[in-house]
Amino acid sequence: MHYFNYKKNDLYCEEMLVSDLANKFATPLYVYSQATLLDHFRKIKKAFTALNPLICYSVKANSNLAILKVLVKDGSGLDIVSGGELYRAQKVVCSGKKIVYASVGKTTKEIKEAINYGILMFNVESSPELARINAIAASMHKNVKVALRVNPDVEAMTHDYITTGKKDTKFGMDIATVRNIFLNGAKYPNLKIVGIHIHIGSQITKSSPFIAAIKRVNKLIDVLRGKGIILEHLNIGGGLGIIYNKETPQTASDFAKKVIPLLKKSGLKIVLEPGRFIVGNAGALIAKTTYIKETPFKRFVIVDAAMNDLLRPSLYEAYHTILPVKKVKYKSSKLSDIVGPVCESGDFLGKARALDVGENDYIAVLGAGAYGFAMSSNYNSRPRAAEVLVNGKEARIIRKRESYKDLIQKEII
Ligand code: PLP
Repeated sequence: MHYFNYKKNDLYCEEMLVSDLANKFATPLYVYSQATLLDHFRKIKKAFTALNPLICYSVKANSNLAILKVLVKDGSGLDIVSGGELYRAQKVVCSGKKIVYASVGKTTKEIKEAINYGILMFNVESSPELARINAIAASMHKNVKVALRVNPDVEAMTHDYITTGKKDTKFGMDIATVRNIFLNGAKYPNLKIVGIHIHIGSQITKSSPFIAAIKRVNKLIDVLRGKGIILEHLNIGGGLGIIYNKETPQTASDFAKKVIPLLKKSGLKIVLEPGRFIVGNAGALIAKTTYIKETPFKRFVIVDAAMNDLLRPSLYEAYHTILPVKKVKYKSSKLSDIVGPVCESGDFLGKARALDVGENDYIAVLGAGAYGFAMSSNYNSRPRAAEVLVNGKEARIIRKRESYKDLIQKEII
């Protein structure tokens, strides 16, 4: 569900004509729908009401301060993975009590900053990290809450690069290691090891991988309870898939119905870390066609957005629906590759698409709200796109377009 729809032949974001936004703010342009953002956050919240979980939006999916602010104001907590994300969380005044911190490589500096801010807990991914946090907490005369990230070794049935719960990935710790840490908790006097965390991957469209993972950690929770170790939190991560093409992902309420009984069994306070589900379909990347290039072999629609703006197609061969911002009848019925100007054959936004547009037309790449701008770069010395947030009949710039000057600001000859 999202609020990018045609009225007659024109694409709208909520009540704003997308072509007006492109004319006003220029392209490439990220356009976000606040109604979609909130709708998805509230759908998860409602689906899980029975458990009253802590929902920590995963900042990495889209870390724009305005997006974070909208969600924090609506009651969301934040899932962070770096000092930079903590800084953003502070800027939107997210209470530390609603912040959880994952990442396999938290540095000493980052750990100190997070302890100082008083985050709810670290999701710890290795024994050396546990020892490090304990030592830092001791030096700061603090007691720090942590959850242990379990790698449950389940197949998430998604792209390899976004599979994180298989034993050969770098994430989390195997169940036996986690059990031993709990049993030897006294080794870490400045830690309260009170939770279990899992995050098995992203863009997962079925419930079975989640169910398999939760069942595994439930067994562990039972074993620990038998030994008198009582936990507080079970964090089941993010990972809920969305529709990019013809997927039929579970809805939040289907997902909740399947997992709530298992989560209730754990008896613990539940934490969720959705990212893509909340923001993915709330954003579109708007671009303008620069040329239509016909070769004897192919038709290319060359646009002013590229892999530096939206990396997902190049990185994962991810599919994004691409639509004309204004439907106009042209003559070509040939399929086209939609490509950017970057000097890589891997620079494409879509392949073999029926997109009948001419020069200087606008196109919209849907589903670009998550891992879109957040993964963008200045490759080929391309200034990053502007970002606009639409709320009904209003649109406001939430990140200015970068200039050439911005590109070289930190450089020294
Ligand atoms: N939690 C953790 C620990 C993650 O690594 C990620 C994404 O990689 C997420 C949550 C969010 O995942 P998604 O955007 O698929 O919901």
